[in-house]
Amino acid sequence: MSEYVTALMAEVKSKNPAEPEFHQAVQEVADSLSVVLERHPEYRNAKILERMIEPERVLMFRVPWMDDRGNIRINRGYRIEMNSAIGPYKGGLRFHPSVTLGILKFLAFEQVFKNSLTTLPMGGGKGGSDFDPKGKSDNEVMHFCQSFMTELCRHIGPDTDVPAGDIGVGGREIGFLFGQYKRLRNEFTGVLTGKGLNWGGSLIRPEATGYGAVYFAAEMLTTRGQTLQGKKCLVSGSGNVAQYTVEKINQLGGKAVTLSDSNGYIYDEEGISKEKLDFVMDLKNTRRGRIKEYAEKFKGVVYTPIDQKLDYNPLWNHKADCAFPSATQNEINGKDAQNLLKNKVYVVAEGANMPTTLDGVKTFIDAGILYGPAKAANAGGVAVSGLEMSQNSMRMPWTREEVDNRLHIIMKSIHKTCVDMANRFGTPGNYVNGANIGGFLKVADAMMDQGLV
Ligand code: NAP
Repeated sequence: MSEYVTALMAEVKSKNPAEPEFHQAVQEVADSLSVVLERHPEYRNAKILERMIEPERVLMFRVPWMDDRGNIRINRGYRIEMNSAIGPYKGGLRFHPSVTLGILKFLAFEQVFKNSLTTLPMGGGKGGSDFDPKGKSDNEVMHFCQSFMTELCRHIGPDTDVPAGDIGVGGREIGFLFGQYKRLRNEFTGVLTGKGLNWGGSLIRPEATGYGAVYFAAEMLTTRGQTLQGKKCLVSGSGNVAQYTVEKINQLGGKAVTLSDSNGYIYDEEGISKEKLDFVMDLKNTRRGRIKEYAEKFKGVVYTPIDQKLDYNPLWNHKADCAFPSATQNEINGKDAQNLLKNKVYVVAEGANMPTTLDGVKTFIDAGILYGPAKAANAGGVAVSGLEMSQNSMRMPWTREEVDNRLHIIMKSIHKTCVDMANRFGTPGNYVNGANIGGFLKVADAMMDQGLV
Protein backbone atom coordinates (compact mmCIF):
# COMPACT_ATOMS: atom_id res chain seq x y z
CA MET A 1 0.00 0.00 0.00
CA SER A 2 2.88 2.40 0.60
CA GLU A 3 3.54 1.96 -3.13
CA TYR A 4 0.06 3.37 -3.65
CA VAL A 5 0.86 6.37 -1.42
CA THR A 6 4.21 6.92 -3.17
CA ALA A 7 2.54 6.94 -6.59
CA LEU A 8 -0.29 9.16 -5.35
CA MET A 9 2.16 11.69 -3.89
CA ALA A 10 4.24 11.75 -7.08
CA GLU A 11 1.07 12.61 -8.99
CA VAL A 12 0.01 15.25 -6.44
CA LYS A 13 3.43 16.93 -6.63
CA SER A 14 3.64 16.94 -10.42
CA LYS A 15 0.08 18.23 -10.81
CA ASN A 16 0.35 20.86 -8.07
CA PRO A 17 3.91 22.20 -8.23
CA ALA A 18 5.06 24.90 -5.80
CA GLU A 19 2.38 23.98 -3.25
CA PRO A 20 4.47 22.39 -0.45
CA GLU A 21 1.84 22.92 2.27
CA PHE A 22 -0.77 21.16 0.15
CA HIS A 23 1.63 18.23 -0.43
CA GLN A 24 2.27 18.06 3.33
CA ALA A 25 -1.44 17.95 4.18
CA VAL A 26 -2.17 15.27 1.58
CA GLN A 27 0.83 13.18 2.62
CA GLU A 28 -0.34 13.04 6.23
CA VAL A 29 -3.86 11.99 5.25
CA ALA A 30 -2.69 9.44 2.65
CA ASP A 31 -0.39 7.80 5.21
CA SER A 32 -3.26 7.49 7.69
CA LEU A 33 -5.65 6.13 5.09
CA SER A 34 -3.38 3.35 3.73
CA VAL A 35 -4.88 0.80 6.07
CA VAL A 36 -8.47 1.90 5.31
CA LEU A 37 -7.95 1.63 1.56
CA GLU A 38 -6.41 -1.81 2.04
CA ARG A 39 -9.43 -3.03 4.00
CA HIS A 40 -11.93 -1.27 1.71
CA PRO A 41 -10.87 -1.69 -1.93
CA GLU A 42 -14.23 -0.19 -2.99
CA TYR A 43 -12.98 3.28 -1.99
CA ARG A 44 -9.79 2.75 -3.93
CA ASN A 45 -11.63 1.45 -7.00
CA ALA A 46 -13.93 4.48 -6.93
CA LYS A 47 -10.85 6.74 -6.61
CA ILE A 48 -12.38 8.52 -3.65
CA LEU A 49 -9.11 9.93 -2.28
CA GLU A 50 -7.97 11.00 -5.76
CA ARG A 51 -11.27 12.87 -6.16
CA MET A 52 -10.99 14.47 -2.71
CA ILE A 53 -7.56 15.85 -3.60
CA GLU A 54 -8.96 17.68 -6.62
CA PRO A 55 -11.01 20.76 -5.64
CA GLU A 56 -14.54 20.78 -7.04
CA ARG A 57 -13.94 24.38 -8.06
CA VAL A 58 -11.17 27.00 -7.70
CA LEU A 59 -12.01 30.70 -8.03
CA MET A 60 -9.21 33.21 -8.42
CA PHE A 61 -9.96 36.85 -9.03
CA ARG A 62 -8.65 40.41 -9.11
CA VAL A 63 -9.45 42.66 -6.15
CA PRO A 64 -8.82 46.31 -7.05
CA TRP A 65 -9.25 48.99 -4.38
CA MET A 66 -8.07 52.50 -3.56
CA ASP A 67 -6.05 53.38 -0.46
CA ASP A 68 -6.47 56.54 1.66
CA ARG A 69 -3.91 58.44 -0.42
CA GLY A 70 -5.74 57.73 -3.66
CA ASN A 71 -3.31 55.03 -4.86
CA ILE A 72 -4.75 52.11 -6.76
CA ARG A 73 -3.96 48.73 -5.17
CA ILE A 74 -4.44 45.28 -6.66
CA ASN A 75 -4.70 42.11 -4.60
CA ARG A 76 -5.58 38.56 -5.54
CA GLY A 77 -8.70 36.90 -4.16
CA TYR A 78 -9.44 33.17 -3.93
CA ARG A 79 -12.16 30.75 -2.97
CA ILE A 80 -11.45 27.01 -3.02
CA GLU A 81 -14.68 24.97 -3.12
CA MET A 82 -13.15 21.67 -2.16
CA ASN A 83 -15.90 19.16 -1.41
CA SER A 84 -19.68 19.38 -1.06
CA ALA A 85 -20.54 15.71 -0.52
CA ILE A 86 -22.03 16.23 2.95
CA GLY A 87 -23.16 19.87 2.84
CA PRO A 88 -22.52 23.36 1.46
CA TYR A 89 -18.86 24.41 1.23
CA LYS A 90 -17.83 25.86 4.58
CA GLY A 91 -14.55 27.35 5.75
CA GLY A 92 -12.86 30.61 6.59
CA LEU A 93 -11.33 33.49 4.68
CA ARG A 94 -7.70 34.38 5.41
CA PHE A 95 -6.27 37.84 4.70
CA HIS A 96 -2.48 37.68 5.06
CA PRO A 97 0.44 38.53 2.73
CA SER A 98 1.58 34.88 2.86
CA VAL A 99 -1.65 33.63 1.24
CA THR A 100 -1.16 31.61 -1.94
CA LEU A 101 -3.21 29.07 -3.83
CA GLY A 102 -1.25 26.23 -2.18
CA ILE A 103 -1.84 27.52 1.36
CA LEU A 104 -5.58 27.80 0.75
CA LYS A 105 -5.73 24.36 -0.87
CA PHE A 106 -4.10 22.75 2.16
CA LEU A 107 -6.57 24.57 4.41
CA ALA A 108 -9.56 23.62 2.23
CA PHE A 109 -8.45 19.98 2.07
CA GLU A 110 -8.11 19.73 5.86
CA GLN A 111 -11.42 21.54 6.29
CA VAL A 112 -13.28 18.72 4.53
CA PHE A 113 -12.15 16.20 7.17
CA LYS A 114 -12.62 18.60 10.06
CA ASN A 115 -16.16 19.53 9.09
CA SER A 116 -17.04 15.89 8.68
CA LEU A 117 -15.77 15.17 12.22
CA THR A 118 -18.09 17.80 13.74
CA THR A 119 -21.09 15.56 12.85
CA LEU A 120 -22.75 18.61 11.23
CA PRO A 121 -23.72 18.72 7.53
CA MET A 122 -20.94 20.91 6.14
CA GLY A 123 -18.70 20.43 3.11
CA GLY A 124 -15.24 22.00 2.94
CA GLY A 125 -13.89 25.21 1.46
CA LYS A 126 -11.44 28.01 2.18
CA GLY A 127 -10.59 31.36 0.68
CA GLY A 128 -8.90 34.67 1.20
CA SER A 129 -6.41 37.08 -0.21
CA ASP A 130 -2.80 38.23 0.00
CA PHE A 131 -4.17 41.52 1.36
CA ASP A 132 -2.55 42.54 4.67
CA PRO A 133 -4.99 44.28 7.05
CA LYS A 134 -2.06 45.23 9.34
CA GLY A 135 -1.31 48.95 9.19
CA LYS A 136 -4.43 49.70 7.10
CA SER A 137 -7.11 52.14 8.23
CA ASP A 138 -10.67 50.94 8.87
CA ASN A 139 -11.65 52.78 5.70
CA GLU A 140 -9.06 50.90 3.62
CA VAL A 141 -10.11 47.56 5.10
CA MET A 142 -13.73 48.38 4.23
CA HIS A 143 -12.89 49.31 0.65
CA PHE A 144 -10.89 46.12 0.22
CA CYS A 145 -13.68 43.95 1.73
CA GLN A 146 -16.29 45.58 -0.51
CA SER A 147 -14.24 44.95 -3.63
CA PHE A 148 -13.50 41.35 -2.56
CA MET A 149 -17.20 40.65 -1.95
CA THR A 150 -18.28 42.29 -5.21
CA GLU A 151 -16.73 39.32 -7.01
CA LEU A 152 -17.23 36.63 -4.36
CA CYS A 153 -20.96 37.29 -3.91
CA ARG A 154 -21.87 35.59 -7.18
CA HIS A 155 -20.30 32.30 -6.04
CA ILE A 156 -21.55 31.95 -2.45
CA GLY A 157 -24.93 31.63 -0.71
CA PRO A 158 -26.46 30.13 2.44
CA ASP A 159 -27.07 26.78 0.70
CA THR A 160 -23.98 26.88 -1.54
CA ASP A 161 -20.91 28.18 0.22
CA VAL A 162 -20.74 29.89 3.61
CA PRO A 163 -17.39 31.58 4.41
CA ALA A 164 -16.24 32.65 7.90
CA GLY A 165 -13.16 34.28 9.45
CA ASP A 166 -9.56 33.07 9.79
CA ILE A 167 -6.22 34.87 10.15
CA GLY A 168 -6.75 38.59 9.48
CA VAL A 169 -10.53 38.21 9.17
CA GLY A 170 -12.38 38.95 12.41
CA GLY A 171 -15.64 40.65 13.36
CA ARG A 172 -14.74 43.91 11.61
CA GLU A 173 -14.02 42.27 8.25
CA ILE A 174 -17.04 39.92 8.43
CA GLY A 175 -19.21 43.03 9.02
CA PHE A 176 -17.89 44.82 5.94
CA LEU A 177 -18.19 41.65 3.81
CA PHE A 178 -21.75 40.95 4.98
CA GLY A 179 -22.83 44.56 4.38
CA GLN A 180 -21.65 44.44 0.79
CA TYR A 181 -23.20 40.99 0.14
CA LYS A 182 -26.57 42.21 1.44
CA ARG A 183 -26.39 45.33 -0.67
CA LEU A 184 -25.54 43.49 -3.88
CA ARG A 185 -27.91 40.54 -3.44
CA ASN A 186 -30.70 42.38 -1.62
CA GLU A 187 -31.13 39.52 0.84
CA PHE A 188 -30.45 39.03 4.54
CA THR A 189 -29.31 35.43 4.89
CA GLY A 190 -26.78 33.37 6.82
CA VAL A 191 -24.22 33.59 4.01
CA LEU A 192 -21.31 34.25 6.39
CA THR A 193 -20.68 33.07 9.95
CA GLY A 194 -18.90 34.97 12.68
CA LYS A 195 -21.44 37.78 12.31
CA GLY A 196 -22.13 40.41 14.97
CA LEU A 197 -24.53 39.33 17.72
CA ASN A 198 -27.22 41.86 16.85
CA TRP A 199 -27.30 40.91 13.16
CA GLY A 200 -27.42 37.12 13.10
CA GLY A 201 -24.25 36.04 14.86
CA SER A 202 -24.12 33.23 17.42
CA LEU A 203 -23.09 33.56 21.03
CA ILE A 204 -19.83 31.66 21.69
CA ARG A 205 -18.68 31.83 18.04
CA PRO A 206 -15.71 34.11 18.86
CA GLU A 207 -14.76 31.83 21.75
CA ALA A 208 -15.43 28.52 19.98
CA THR A 209 -12.09 27.55 18.45
CA GLY A 210 -10.06 28.32 21.57
CA TYR A 211 -12.61 26.85 23.97
CA GLY A 212 -12.93 23.78 21.76
CA ALA A 213 -9.16 23.18 21.68
CA VAL A 214 -9.04 23.29 25.46
CA TYR A 215 -12.09 21.00 25.78
CA PHE A 216 -10.29 18.59 23.46
CA ALA A 217 -7.11 18.71 25.57
CA ALA A 218 -9.18 18.10 28.72
CA GLU A 219 -10.82 15.12 27.02
CA MET A 220 -7.41 13.67 26.08
CA LEU A 221 -6.27 14.13 29.69
CA THR A 222 -9.28 12.18 31.00
CA THR A 223 -7.93 9.11 29.17
CA ARG A 224 -5.09 9.25 31.72
CA GLY A 225 -7.36 10.10 34.65
CA GLN A 226 -6.12 13.71 34.75
CA THR A 227 -7.49 17.25 34.39
CA LEU A 228 -6.09 20.65 33.39
CA GLN A 229 -6.05 21.78 37.01
CA GLY A 230 -2.59 23.16 37.82
CA LYS A 231 -1.17 22.43 34.36
CA LYS A 232 1.33 24.90 32.91
CA CYS A 233 0.50 25.74 29.29
CA LEU A 234 2.45 27.27 26.41
CA VAL A 235 0.23 29.17 23.94
CA SER A 236 1.41 30.78 20.69
CA GLY A 237 -0.33 33.57 18.76
CA SER A 238 -2.36 36.33 20.37
CA GLY A 239 -5.32 36.51 18.01
CA ASN A 240 -8.79 35.05 18.24
CA VAL A 241 -7.83 31.44 18.89
CA ALA A 242 -5.02 32.19 21.35
CA GLN A 243 -7.11 34.63 23.40
CA TYR A 244 -9.98 32.23 24.06
CA THR A 245 -7.61 29.32 24.58
CA VAL A 246 -6.08 31.26 27.47
CA GLU A 247 -9.54 32.17 28.81
CA LYS A 248 -10.66 28.53 28.93
CA ILE A 249 -7.32 27.31 30.36
CA ASN A 250 -7.84 29.79 33.21
CA GLN A 251 -11.44 28.65 33.72
CA LEU A 252 -10.35 25.01 33.98
CA GLY A 253 -7.63 25.78 36.52
CA GLY A 254 -4.57 25.73 34.26
CA LYS A 255 -1.93 28.42 33.88
CA ALA A 256 -1.00 29.93 30.48
CA VAL A 257 2.47 31.53 30.45
CA THR A 258 3.17 32.55 26.84
CA LEU A 259 1.62 34.47 23.93
CA SER A 260 3.20 35.63 20.66
CA ASP A 261 2.80 37.55 17.43
CA SER A 262 4.90 37.69 14.29
CA ASN A 263 7.47 39.93 16.01
CA GLY A 264 8.14 37.92 19.19
CA TYR A 265 6.72 36.29 22.31
CA ILE A 266 6.14 37.04 26.00
CA TYR A 267 6.81 34.69 28.91
CA ASP A 268 4.87 35.44 32.09
CA GLU A 269 5.82 33.03 34.88
CA GLU A 270 2.96 34.34 37.06
CA GLY A 271 0.41 33.31 34.44
CA ILE A 272 -1.83 35.31 32.10
CA SER A 273 -4.67 36.18 34.49
CA LYS A 274 -8.12 37.42 33.46
CA GLU A 275 -7.04 41.03 33.99
CA LYS A 276 -3.96 40.56 31.80
CA LEU A 277 -6.02 38.80 29.15
CA ASP A 278 -8.43 41.76 29.07
CA PHE A 279 -5.39 43.92 28.30
CA VAL A 280 -4.39 41.57 25.44
CA MET A 281 -7.90 41.62 23.97
CA ASP A 282 -7.97 45.41 23.97
CA LEU A 283 -4.40 45.55 22.60
CA LYS A 284 -5.06 43.12 19.75
CA ASN A 285 -8.74 43.61 18.91
CA THR A 286 -9.13 47.36 19.36
CA ARG A 287 -5.77 49.11 19.42
CA ARG A 288 -4.22 46.56 17.03
CA GLY A 289 -0.83 46.81 18.78
CA ARG A 290 2.08 44.40 19.27
CA ILE A 291 2.46 41.79 22.04
CA LYS A 292 5.69 43.46 23.18
CA GLU A 293 3.49 46.03 24.98
CA TYR A 294 2.40 43.27 27.40
CA ALA A 295 5.95 43.07 28.77
CA GLU A 296 6.10 46.86 29.05
CA LYS A 297 2.81 46.93 30.99
CA PHE A 298 3.29 44.01 33.45
CA LYS A 299 6.22 43.39 35.78
CA GLY A 300 8.36 40.27 35.64
CA VAL A 301 7.46 39.45 32.03
CA VAL A 302 10.18 38.58 29.52
CA TYR A 303 9.79 39.60 25.87
CA THR A 304 11.86 37.78 23.26
CA PRO A 305 11.90 39.14 19.71
CA ILE A 306 11.90 36.72 16.77
CA ASP A 307 15.41 35.70 15.77
CA GLN A 308 15.34 34.57 12.13
CA LYS A 309 18.78 32.94 12.53
CA LEU A 310 17.49 30.32 14.98
CA ASP A 311 16.34 26.97 13.62
CA TYR A 312 13.85 26.58 16.48
CA ASN A 313 11.26 28.73 18.27
CA PRO A 314 12.30 29.51 21.87
CA LEU A 315 8.62 29.77 22.87
CA TRP A 316 8.51 25.95 22.74
CA ASN A 317 11.60 25.62 24.92
CA HIS A 318 10.11 26.17 28.40
CA LYS A 319 9.17 23.64 31.08
CA ALA A 320 5.43 22.98 30.82
CA ASP A 321 2.75 20.28 30.65
CA CYS A 322 0.69 21.38 27.65
CA ALA A 323 1.18 23.25 24.38
CA PHE A 324 -1.51 25.01 22.36
CA PRO A 325 -0.02 26.22 19.05
CA SER A 326 -2.54 28.90 17.96
CA ALA A 327 -0.75 31.12 15.42
CA THR A 328 -0.08 29.58 12.01
CA GLN A 329 1.09 26.59 9.93
CA ASN A 330 4.45 24.89 10.55
CA GLU A 331 5.24 26.84 13.70
CA ILE A 332 6.51 23.64 15.43
CA ASN A 333 9.32 21.94 13.52
CA GLY A 334 11.15 18.72 14.39
CA LYS A 335 13.53 20.50 16.74
CA ASP A 336 10.69 22.34 18.49
CA ALA A 337 8.89 19.03 18.97
CA GLN A 338 12.01 17.58 20.58
CA ASN A 339 12.38 20.64 22.79
CA LEU A 340 8.77 20.27 23.94
CA LEU A 341 9.36 16.63 24.88
CA LYS A 342 12.63 17.51 26.62
CA ASN A 343 10.69 20.08 28.68
CA LYS A 344 8.16 17.40 29.72
CA VAL A 345 5.23 18.63 27.61
CA TYR A 346 2.92 15.66 27.09
CA VAL A 347 -0.29 17.31 25.81
CA VAL A 348 -0.37 19.15 22.46
CA ALA A 349 -3.72 20.45 21.21
CA GLU A 350 -3.53 22.29 17.90
CA GLY A 351 -5.63 25.48 17.72
CA ALA A 352 -3.87 26.60 14.55
CA ASN A 353 -4.16 24.66 11.29
CA MET A 354 -1.25 22.28 10.54
CA PRO A 355 1.06 24.02 13.04
CA THR A 356 3.37 20.99 13.21
CA THR A 357 5.67 19.82 10.41
CA LEU A 358 5.55 16.16 9.37
CA ASP A 359 8.72 15.29 11.30
CA GLY A 360 7.32 17.10 14.37
CA VAL A 361 4.14 15.02 14.11
CA LYS A 362 6.20 11.83 13.91
CA THR A 363 8.21 12.88 16.97
CA PHE A 364 5.00 13.34 19.01
CA ILE A 365 3.45 10.09 17.84
CA ASP A 366 6.62 8.06 18.45
CA ALA A 367 6.80 9.52 21.97
CA GLY A 368 3.22 8.42 22.66
CA ILE A 369 2.13 11.80 24.06
CA LEU A 370 -1.45 13.10 23.92
CA TYR A 371 -1.26 14.80 20.54
CA GLY A 372 -4.53 16.29 19.23
CA PRO A 373 -4.15 17.32 15.56
CA ALA A 374 -5.81 20.46 14.23
CA LYS A 375 -8.57 18.71 12.28
CA ALA A 376 -9.94 17.42 15.56
CA ALA A 377 -8.72 19.87 18.20
CA ASN A 378 -9.70 23.12 16.47
CA ALA A 379 -12.98 21.91 14.95
CA GLY A 380 -14.95 23.80 17.62
CA GLY A 381 -14.85 27.02 15.55
CA VAL A 382 -16.48 25.57 12.49
CA ALA A 383 -18.83 23.52 14.68
CA VAL A 384 -20.27 26.68 16.20
CA SER A 385 -20.35 28.22 12.71
CA GLY A 386 -22.57 25.25 11.82
CA LEU A 387 -24.73 26.07 14.85
CA GLU A 388 -24.87 29.70 13.68
CA MET A 389 -26.19 28.47 10.31
CA SER A 390 -28.90 26.45 12.08
CA GLN A 391 -29.95 29.44 14.19
CA ASN A 392 -30.05 31.65 11.07
CA SER A 393 -32.23 29.13 9.23
CA MET A 394 -34.60 28.86 12.18
CA ARG A 395 -34.40 32.64 12.78
CA MET A 396 -34.01 31.72 16.43
CA PRO A 397 -30.96 32.48 18.61
CA TRP A 398 -29.81 30.09 21.34
CA THR A 399 -28.48 31.14 24.74
CA ARG A 400 -24.80 31.20 25.60
CA GLU A 401 -25.19 28.11 27.80
CA GLU A 402 -27.01 26.20 25.07
CA VAL A 403 -24.32 26.89 22.45
CA ASP A 404 -21.43 26.24 24.84
CA ASN A 405 -23.06 23.01 25.92
CA ARG A 406 -23.49 21.88 22.32
CA LEU A 407 -19.85 22.83 21.58
CA HIS A 408 -18.69 20.77 24.54
CA ILE A 409 -20.74 17.77 23.43
CA ILE A 410 -19.38 18.06 19.86
CA MET A 411 -15.76 18.21 21.09
CA LYS A 412 -16.33 15.10 23.23
CA SER A 413 -17.87 13.33 20.27
CA ILE A 414 -14.93 14.25 18.01
CA HIS A 415 -12.57 12.95 20.67
CA LYS A 416 -14.50 9.68 20.88
CA THR A 417 -14.49 9.28 17.09
CA CYS A 418 -10.69 9.73 17.05
CA VAL A 419 -10.17 7.19 19.80
CA ASP A 420 -12.60 4.65 18.28
CA MET A 421 -11.19 4.95 14.76
CA ALA A 422 -7.58 4.71 15.94
CA ASN A 423 -8.51 1.53 17.82
CA ARG A 424 -10.57 0.07 14.96
CA PHE A 425 -7.73 0.49 12.48
CA GLY A 426 -4.97 -0.82 14.77
CA THR A 427 -3.18 2.31 16.06
CA PRO A 428 -4.61 2.97 19.54
CA GLY A 429 -3.82 6.43 20.92
CA ASN A 430 -2.95 7.82 17.49
CA TYR A 431 -5.29 10.81 17.17
CA VAL A 432 -3.85 11.74 13.76
CA ASN A 433 -4.98 8.45 12.25
CA GLY A 434 -8.23 8.60 14.21
CA ALA A 435 -9.12 12.09 12.93
CA ASN A 436 -8.12 11.41 9.33
CA ILE A 437 -9.99 8.11 9.16
CA GLY A 438 -13.08 9.35 11.02
CA GLY A 439 -13.30 12.45 8.81
CA PHE A 440 -12.71 10.44 5.64
CA LEU A 441 -15.27 7.67 6.11
CA LYS A 442 -18.35 9.89 6.30
CA VAL A 443 -17.37 11.89 3.21
CA ALA A 444 -16.27 8.79 1.31
CA ASP A 445 -19.58 7.01 1.94
CA ALA A 446 -21.53 10.08 0.81
CA MET A 447 -19.43 10.26 -2.38
CA MET A 448 -20.03 6.56 -3.03
CA ASP A 449 -23.80 7.14 -2.69
CA GLN A 450 -23.82 10.17 -4.98
CA GLY A 451 -22.17 8.59 -8.02
CA LEU A 452 -19.33 9.85 -10.17
CA VAL A 453 -19.57 13.62 -9.70
P1 NAP B 1 -5.79 35.97 14.08
O1 NAP B 1 -6.83 36.42 15.04
O2 NAP B 1 -5.54 36.76 12.86
O3 NAP B 1 -4.44 35.77 14.90
C1 NAP B 1 -3.34 35.17 14.31
C2 NAP B 1 -2.18 35.21 15.29
O4 NAP B 1 -1.11 34.43 14.79
C3 NAP B 1 -1.63 36.61 15.49
O5 NAP B 1 -1.09 36.71 16.77
C4 NAP B 1 -0.54 36.68 14.42
O6 NAP B 1 0.48 37.62 14.69
C5 NAP B 1 0.01 35.27 14.47
N1 NAP B 1 0.54 34.91 13.15
C6 NAP B 1 -0.14 34.81 11.99
N2 NAP B 1 0.66 34.49 10.98
C7 NAP B 1 1.88 34.41 11.51
C8 NAP B 1 3.15 34.09 10.97
N3 NAP B 1 3.31 33.82 9.66
N4 NAP B 1 4.21 34.07 11.82
C9 NAP B 1 4.05 34.34 13.14
N5 NAP B 1 2.86 34.64 13.71
C10 NAP B 1 1.81 34.67 12.91
O7 NAP B 1 -6.12 34.48 13.54
P2 NAP B 1 -6.83 33.29 14.32
O8 NAP B 1 -8.25 33.25 13.86
O9 NAP B 1 -6.52 33.32 15.77
O10 NAP B 1 -6.13 32.04 13.63
C11 NAP B 1 -4.94 31.43 14.17
C12 NAP B 1 -4.81 30.02 13.64
O11 NAP B 1 -5.98 29.26 14.01
C13 NAP B 1 -4.71 29.88 12.12
O12 NAP B 1 -3.90 28.76 11.80
C14 NAP B 1 -6.14 29.58 11.69
O13 NAP B 1 -6.22 28.93 10.45
C15 NAP B 1 -6.56 28.67 12.85
N6 NAP B 1 -8.01 28.53 13.04
C16 NAP B 1 -8.79 29.61 13.28
C17 NAP B 1 -10.15 29.43 13.48
C18 NAP B 1 -11.05 30.57 13.82
O14 NAP B 1 -12.22 30.31 14.14
N7 NAP B 1 -10.60 31.80 13.83
C19 NAP B 1 -10.71 28.15 13.40
C20 NAP B 1 -9.88 27.06 13.17
C21 NAP B 1 -8.53 27.26 12.99
P3 NAP B 1 0.53 38.98 13.86
O15 NAP B 1 -0.64 39.79 14.36
O16 NAP B 1 1.84 39.58 14.15
O17 NAP B 1 0.38 38.60 12.41
